[in-house]
Amino acid sequence: MAATPRVAIIGGGIGGLTLALALRERGLTADVYEQAPRLAEIGAAVALSANATRELERIGLGAGLAAASTTPTELIHRRWRDGRKVAAHPVGTGSWYRDRFHAPFHGIHRAHLQAVLAAALGPGTVHLGCRLVELGERSDGMVLRFADGRAEHAELVVGADGIRSTVRRWVAGGAHEIYSGTSGFRGIVPVDRLPDLPDPGAIQFWMGPGAHLLHYAIGSSGELVNFLAVVEGPAAWTGSEGWTAEVAGDVPLRAFEGWHPAVTSMIAAVTHTVRWGLFAVAPLRRWHRGRAVLLGDAAHAMLPHQGQGANTTVEDAVALAALIARESTATGLPGALAAYQTLRRARTRRIQRSSWTTNALLHLPDGPAADERDRALARLPQDLAWIHGYDVHAALRGRPAHTATAGPVVPAPRSPGAVVAAPAVEGCCRG
Ligand SMILES: Cc1cc2nc3c(=O)[nH]c(=O)nc-3n(C[C@H](O)[C@H](O)[C@H](O)COP(=O)(O)OP(=O)(O)OC[C@H]3O[C@@H](n4cnc5c(N)ncnc54)[C@H](O)[C@@H]3O)c2cc1C
Repeated sequence: MAATPRVAIIGGGIGGLTLALALRERGLTADVYEQAPRLAEIGAAVALSANATRELERIGLGAGLAAASTTPTELIHRRWRDGRKVAAHPVGTGSWYRDRFHAPFHGIHRAHLQAVLAAALGPGTVHLGCRLVELGERSDGMVLRFADGRAEHAELVVGADGIRSTVRRWVAGGAHEIYSGTSGFRGIVPVDRLPDLPDPGAIQFWMGPGAHLLHYAIGSSGELVNFLAVVEGPAAWTGSEGWTAEVAGDVPLRAFEGWHPAVTSMIAAVTHTVRWGLFAVAPLRRWHRGRAVLLGDAAHAMLPHQGQGANTTVEDAVALAALIARESTATGLPGALAAYQTLRRARTRRIQRSSWTTNALLHLPDGPAADERDRALARLPQDLAWIHGYDVHAALRGRPAHTATAGPVVPAPRSPGAVVAAPAVEGCCRG
């Protein structure tokens, strides 16, 4: 095998694009094969925490991200009916968060995040309309077959192809998606349509019996509010389209009957046609087989309640790029893949578990257990430090990976402007 392996990344989502950038930083090139005819992320927005923004800043995307996103003022938890504030911690206010975790927190529309990543990659790397249907192994690498009949060869295939990964079927066999028994309704609402909403610039959890609603501001000046309203059920998932199922328009509002007007008016501001089933990937014993390896949701899709699916995906990408660059010339690719699995599996499993537990805590009925949870929320910044303070580079060097410090309050730099560059990508698999 050559010192610099030919890398094929399957999937042009957050993970695939970040990996291509991180490899390029290390002097390695990759081709990204994306099934969609254009890069157009669905699914509203994403909250990026310091464990990911630190890495995205390192690869030069700090200004682009800051221009396209909003930093929440605070992290606030409230009770469902009367909106009582049970905990509030500064995030953007006074730059407390940046000082503690050495990187910012951003709320950003997924399409804008994808555009920032694709623009940084430039043309020629992302090949659109390329749906991988089959993988095979030869002595000198992997053979990839696409839906249009085309075949490609690569020395390493990275499955960044999401929760229903084709590459994972080759690596780990079988079906690994698990339905959580919970589902969500999502939307984006202009903030000026939410007069009942207290603290519209904050990231807020509204917690109640059997449900919760999370929202945060997005857009270059926080002019939009992105929300995810989560309910228990349906007990079994029958959605024919994978993770969405058609729903009658009044179902979401009925599930939140009696909740604070800030919650109900947010839900009512959107026409709901689908509910999103919330799925995870069962912990995998192996993340790689031969010259194929998994990354992001393909390896460890998790429930969104720690807001860490995309953030851990960025961590994966940075770790994998570093290990391929470091080890492919020394012990070879198998050593790099084994080291990657060792580094990433334990951490992502722990966050997966924590996301399940968080759902249960957010859905407690009023009573002593909910009171106890509310008291515990007072120490949330300390409790989250192992997630947000994680430094993947320190972990790669075998050092303690947790970087949170109680730093002085210094205003965070903020990039001017609100321009999101258009993605620069190519189509190639289309007929
Ligand atoms: C409701 C909800 C809210 C969330 N909120 C947050 C949040 O606030 N913060 C956070 O960190 N995470 C959040 N997440 C999780 C986050 O969205 C995912 O973890 C993240 O997008 C994973 O990135 P990925 O690149 O691994 O996969 P994806 O983003 O799913 O990208 C996979 C790509 O692969 C392509 N693909 C699939 N199959 C093929 C094929 N056979 N051939 C070619 N291409 C293929 C797809 O078209 C897609 O573009 C949330 C998830 C949900 C469901």
